[in-house]
Amino acid sequence: MRALCESPASRAASSCIDCGLCPSTAPSHFRRDDEIGQSFVFRQPETAEEIALCREALEGCPTESIGEDGGDT
Ligand code: SF4
Repeated sequence: MRALCESPASRAASSCIDCGLCPSTAPSHFRRDDEIGQSFVFRQPETAEEIALCREALEGCPTESIGEDGGDT
């Protein structure tokens, strides 16, 4: 899995509503950018546990703003 929304710049026009779910679910992978008021991926998941956390964030995102490449790793 490679979570897609990797930089504040790539997120500027996204549908993220700054609900805070992804950085609270997977804080080692998502963080909020204070300037744009949206969250983005700053570190891709590598282990199965990390992938599960990022999938949980993806599936919980209320605006479907987090994508993935579809890979299992
Ligand atoms: S879960 Fe979705 S809407 Fe909420 S902060 Fe993350 S990307 Fe934005």
